[in-house]
Amino acid sequence: MFSISDFLNLPANSRKQLLKQLQHAHKGQESSQAHNQKPDISCPFCQSKKFSHNGHGPTGKSRYRCKKCHKTFSETTGTPIHAIKLPGKFIHFFQVMSDGYQTLHKMAEITGVTVSTAFQWRHKILSAMNASVKKYDGITDFNPGLVAFSRKGLKNHKQNIKESSLSANVLAVADYSDNSELTLLSVGSLRPVDFPAALDEKLKGNAIVIAPWNRPVYEFSKTKNLGFTLFKPELPFNRFDVRQADKLHKELDTYIRKSMRGVSTKYLQAYSMWIIRIAGIKKSKQDDWTRILQNQSAWGRYVNREELFMSFMKSRADAEYIRASGREWKSAGKYVVN
Ligand SMILES: [Zn+2]
Repeated sequence: MFSISDFLNLPANSRKQLLKQLQHAHKGQESSQAHNQKPDISCPFCQSKKFSHNGHGPTGKSRYRCKKCHKTFSETTGTPIHAIKLPGKFIHFFQVMSDGYQTLHKMAEITGVTVSTAFQWRHKILSAMNASVKKYDGITDFNPGLVAFSRKGLKNHKQNIKESSLSANVLAVADYSDNSELTLLSVGSLRPVDFPAALDEKLKGNAIVIAPWNRPVYEFSKTKNLGFTLFKPELPFNRFDVRQADKLHKELDTYIRKSMRGVSTKYLQAYSMWIIRIAGIKKSKQDDWTRILQNQSAWGRYVNREELFMSFMKSRADAEYIRASGREWKSAGKYVVN
């Protein structure tokens, strides 16, 4: 299949020509579609699957109207590409991001944009990265680990001693069939309710979960009726380990401390999604990267990231929430995010 890197290897003229042809083909394809043929997308505002055709936008793109919230949208509304003014550079930027970690300055230099644009683009793309695991299969390692709590980037704030000793609890789960996840659970104490609700569905069925004994993990498995095999690593003759999960913790730690020189807890989940894709047990495939570009909940999460962090801090952290001064998005309230 023709990939983004093939595209970028073409001479500039051929790229332009190809883009024109693609746009042309895309338009033709859309206008020839019957009106009852709808793409497999959801309303980017309320996630409803019920919508109807609502004419075409100025560029010929099909528009749709949601039957639940009555807002209109196209196939790219809410995706990271939404409202991008330099699509060619953005695709290049996306490709660089899928190749591995680079500092913002380096990414700006490689793709020819300002550092502030690079910051925005990186966070738009990070907001589009979902957990890709549907179901764990077979032996599944399960182990919460610690990452230093950080307010990096927050201006005029000095971390006090109590805060400096706080850690964020990050759960690593990995089976031996290439399914793996890193999930930010809480800051400070860890309670059974801090484990995400979606997790028990992924673990029920074929997964045989192995975890080091730890009270919150034990209580979580009991309340959800999940038959975990818990072991005590310090006991003699212990035969168990969670080396797949520990590999993830090691990668996370190396990237955060060495490459990134610390990550604000606000962005820890987003960066974990990136790290797992570029340095996890198995690198993400092309279709996973394509889905990121098509993710219609990206924009809503991007403009609401301060609100999402606030609700996380208020319900899951032993430290107070401090609002960062930054741009307030008028459109933020239009999106239902979780
Ligand atoms: Zn809707």
